Amino acid sequence: MFDKFSVSTPARVCMISIDNEVEGIIKKSGIQNGICVIYVPHTTAGVTINEGADPAVMSDIIDCLNKLIPSHGNYRHMEGNSDAHIKTSLIGASEHIIIEEGKPVRGTWQKLFFCEFDGPRNRQVYVKVIGE
Ligand code: ZN
Repeated sequence: MFDKFSVSTPARVCMISIDNEVEGIIKKSGIQNGICVIYVPHTTAGVTINEGADPAVMSDIIDCLNKLIPSHGNYRHMEGNSDAHIKTSLIGASEHIIIEEGKPVRGTWQKLFFCEFDGPRNRQVYVKVIGE
């Protein structure tokens, strides 16, 4: 068994903080020492950990990804969203966080972001907490 929650994304490309949802699941699990896996079951959305203090960091990441991988290019995929698939593979579908004394262990500025590359859509995030 694993937990899941929904994310409604407001734009085609955006990063959404999901720390509160994941922390709630860790707390509910009662696990004190272990690992939390955050998994995004989509081919055009992913998850990453990066700076959450200054929102300009995530804006810079989005701008840079859009420059590296333009939405319209010489792509073969007929659906017209190849850029979203490529961005998703670069960012990745999962993250892992260590849990100690019932809390996620993170650096001072680190936050967890759901990364939408083909929104707006309703998305799912799967969370598995393992430990004791
Ligand atoms: Zn596609």
